[in-house]
Amino acid sequence: MSWKLTDRLAEKINHYSSFPATGVSLRQMVQFGQRPNPGTLFRGAQFLGEELPIRLAHRVKELNNLPDGLSEMPSIQKVRNWYAQSFEELIELPRPKIPPQLRELLIKAQRRDTNGEHYGQKLLENTENPSLAGEDYREITPQKKKSINSRRYFVLVDDDISWSPEIHEYNKLFTKCLSVIKKRHDPVVTTVAQGISEYKHSRQRMQIDSTIQSFLDRFYMSRIGIRMLIGQHIAINEQPSTDNYVGVICTKTNVRELAQEAIDNARFICQDYYGLYTSPQVQLVCKPDLNFMYVPGHLSHMLFETLKNSLRAVVELHGPDADNFPPVKLIVAEGNEDITIKISDEGGGIPRSAIPLVWTYMYTTVETMPSLDPDFNKSDFKAPMAGFGYGLPLSRLYARYFGGDLKLISMEGYGTDVYLHLNRLSSTSEPLP
Ligand code: ADP
Ligand code: MG
Repeated sequence: MSWKLTDRLAEKINHYSSFPATGVSLRQMVQFGQRPNPGTLFRGAQFLGEELPIRLAHRVKELNNLPDGLSEMPSIQKVRNWYAQSFEELIELPRPKIPPQLRELLIKAQRRDTNGEHYGQKLLENTENPSLAGEDYREITPQKKKSINSRRYFVLVDDDISWSPEIHEYNKLFTKCLSVIKKRHDPVVTTVAQGISEYKHSRQRMQIDSTIQSFLDRFYMSRIGIRMLIGQHIAINEQPSTDNYVGVICTKTNVRELAQEAIDNARFICQDYYGLYTSPQVQLVCKPDLNFMYVPGHLSHMLFETLKNSLRAVVELHGPDADNFPPVKLIVAEGNEDITIKISDEGGGIPRSAIPLVWTYMYTTVETMPSLDPDFNKSDFKAPMAGFGYGLPLSRLYARYFGGDLKLISMEGYGTDVYLHLNRLSSTSEPLP
């Protein structure tokens, strides 16, 4: 089935892309998703129904305007069409049939909502009530914002609309639509990487320049945000929140357990890749009861990627036939502001001149790149041992997404220290490109 980007749709995309995205913090997501009733879930759907098209529209526009002919690469066009198609599905989703008395209530709630605090509403195109079209929540003055005890108000609204079967139906329909979109976008990272290869090939370039590098940073950061919002909405609709989980967020993420799991996985992959009898040891120093609010999936990803890099450096420096390897150390420190994880190896480090390169996408010292088959590992992008050159730059984006950072310090001739700073205040809003 071939899908086409029509002029009419392009116009709509243009319109939506004139609105800025609204950032949501980890804390807001948790507050919103705790014990949601159908009314709360419905308001979440309303928020995403406007926020996601805005974010997708920005990406379509950017994918259309890349420098040096990059936009024309077949894989980039493919990705552009996925974004446009998802945009279309969201804005064309039939609006819920809401009984008049509830509609009134919801419109009032939309008016009261402030910037993203309660998954804010932007009344872009209220087709049911044309008089509100174009009204913007940002027009609410700060004084007005203060006078509203919003949280209580929303609990009341949510309770009132919860019993409506129409609301219930719509929640199901919207969640289904998000699942389809999420699945469509699974192979985006590999497909964009493919697009960059096509570009390098056609232009005979060895490295990408800084405009393309910053495009990729923005693009992947935005993808992390979109997937977080979608994943969170699907999760709070499909699984009731348990003691420690609100959607995909764990309010008591145990660092030690996750680190141990990442160590086991990375060592297993390493052993398998190099055909070792046993891969280098990893010493773990971490308080057993160190818990904080985070998305375990993100933390696992960052730990796994940095550990694989360290194991690889150690094995390659000493040779796979070495009798023994110096251990990698993973040390976790708990501060008031940050939880910092240091991964230290004695893998010989990186020459100082190559440090800027390790942050560029597709920079790798692996000689033959593994196949970039977009069907490979559909659920999410995970390089086997190494070779895509995405491990470090993507991990740094994950760290920054929730207000943290990832730093790398190398001592050429000895080894590398990677510092993973994770912000534990969790109130920073998403960085929006
Ligand atoms: P990949 O592992 O797929 O090559 P990464 O982004 O994870 O991509 O790393 C990029 C490059 O940085 C690696 O190919 C390697 O040359 C270098 N590198 C990363 N971590 C280390 C480390 N701990 N020690 C030495 N070199 C490293
Ligand atoms: Mg790597």
